Amino acid sequence: MKTVLRIEKATRKRKILVAEDEAINRMMLGRILGNEYDVIYAEDGQKALDIIKADYETISIILLDLVMPVMDGYELIEILMNDKHFKNIPIIVMTSDKTAEIRTLQLGAVDFIPKPYDMPEVIRARISRSIKLAEESRLLTAVEDDPLTGLYNKEFFLQYAGDLDMYHPNLDTDTAVININRFHLINELYGSKTGDIVLNSVAECLRLVLRKNIGLACRSHNDTFYVYLAHQDDYDFLCKRMTEELEAVSGIPDVSVRVGVYKNCDKSLSISKRIDMATIACNLCRGSYTTSYASYDSEIHERELFCEKLIRDTDKALRQGQFQVYYQPKYNIEEDEPELVSAEALIRWTHPEHGRISPGVFIPLFEENGLIKKVDHFVWNQAAAQIAKWKKDFGVTIPISVNVSRVDMFDPTLESVLLKIVKSNGISTSDLMLEVTESAYTGNNAQILSVVNKLRSDGFRIEMDDFGSGYSSLNMLSSLPIDILKLDIGFVRKVCESEKDKRMVAIILEIAEFLNVPVVAEGVEKREQYLLLKNMGCSIIQGYYFSKPEPPEELEGKISQAAKIKLSRESAV
Ligand code: C2E
Ligand code: CA
Ligand code: CA
Repeated sequence: MKTVLRIEKATRKRKILVAEDEAINRMMLGRILGNEYDVIYAEDGQKALDIIKADYETISIILLDLVMPVMDGYELIEILMNDKHFKNIPIIVMTSDKTAEIRTLQLGAVDFIPKPYDMPEVIRARISRSIKLAEESRLLTAVEDDPLTGLYNKEFFLQYAGDLDMYHPNLDTDTAVININRFHLINELYGSKTGDIVLNSVAECLRLVLRKNIGLACRSHNDTFYVYLAHQDDYDFLCKRMTEELEAVSGIPDVSVRVGVYKNCDKSLSISKRIDMATIACNLCRGSYTTSYASYDSEIHERELFCEKLIRDTDKALRQGQFQVYYQPKYNIEEDEPELVSAEALIRWTHPEHGRISPGVFIPLFEENGLIKKVDHFVWNQAAAQIAKWKKDFGVTIPISVNVSRVDMFDPTLESVLLKIVKSNGISTSDLMLEVTESAYTGNNAQILSVVNKLRSDGFRIEMDDFGSGYSSLNMLSSLPIDILKLDIGFVRKVCESEKDKRMVAIILEIAEFLNVPVVAEGVEKREQYLLLKNMGCSIIQGYYFSKPEPPEELEGKISQAAKIKLSRESAV
């Protein structure tokens, strides 16, 4: 803060607007101030307002006569005070009427200069002091505020939240984190101006809350807001109010917020730690259409400890063989008889204390802290070795696809790691297929595309996983370098029940056919789903209907049968 104030020692000549109808007074003030300041004049309130509108950013102070024709000084003060830009220009009132002085100070003037102007030194001193004060306070707020919403920025929030604890040691407090659901999509679809409106409307709701409660708020970054305030029982209400307000202001029908709260904060924890806890609660609502509010409770705390333990246990688990790779076959259903054509490698963890843990639990954790690379390399190696083993045992290659997480896609050694795995296992790049989840393509698109292009030129085949689960548009498909599309499990689950989903699947299949990209439908559990998808032109199916993911030994019957069909076909050619 101090450095900023020091920088402020500027040397430019500041501009003063004198609004005064008497020519003689204008002249006198010009003489008193002309050497030191750039003085401009207006003969009435209206003319002054016009000048201010055109030039408010460069005017340092306004010297205002109260009694003027057209628009008097009182009216002008009122207009200026109600404008978010003009209200920061300090006003000094020039008058000989003592009662008027008090009224104008109440209206927002910072000082007054008595008429007649017989003490030039006093006038200069008052003006210089008022300008200095206004500039310092503007500088301070400029640094403290987020320029878009006028809330604090993160640094000041952290500092002032600490101050609040100091001044109110016995106050029970909550820390809240607020995010706008799918904010990036709002920006993309409706433009950043609408995005700004949404952000400002969140800020306005928070200001309303803080008018009634002790506390403070900031916009930390993008669409993330922090609030530190006196304990509240009801946050559901706040969420609903905010969502209604956002819808009304932005005109976007499904805009909503999610709120995570750490209630009755333990004040021995740092403010940042309290924010982390509220953030964990907030993240629990991500992607949920029904829950918009969660509070950090003992259950979450337990889960957090559990996650930390899993992370600590990972290295040992890799060393002790607690991870296993299962394989789920994929069947080509174009002919009458479904044919096993490949398989997906899926990791399994049998933990000595916690038993079987779902990859849905530990994979996201590993993605957060980089452990995913180690674990994925393990799976890729296992899968490559499995391809080689089945080839040796049955005489044909059954390609296997492995999951490549978004984090892997940003690893500069990815290509060399994969090439090494392929080479050391004596298989070909086209045997190891790579599943990259759709959401990896959003965000830093260019980087992902260049990696995908490189891998394809090495001969790897790229499958886009979970297509339709995120925000990918159908147009995107035509420009993406992919070899296979995997329809998200969510579509398949509903394809027989919901006309809308059926229609979506039909459109995707049509586009994919046009682009000559085969589609894999994942999560097919029932015969009716299989038949419907077959009729709609889907070529490959993966799901419990044919097989669950299984250890490689248990799949050998199916693999051997598939190998026989493949071999007989090859010998017939
Ligand atoms: P995914 O890549 O979309 O894998 C498909 C998931 O759907 C698997 O869950 C699979 O067991 C499940 N599934 C397949 N058919 C059916 C069905 O008919 N019904 C139902 N209800 N589910 C079915 P799983 O094995 O629990 O894996 C969950 C996710 O964890 C995977 O989703 C993938 O994102 C991630 N994952 C699993 N293994 C790995 C891995 O080795 N590396 C990485 N990076 N991620 C992995
Ligand atoms: Ca997958
Ligand atoms: Ca998937």
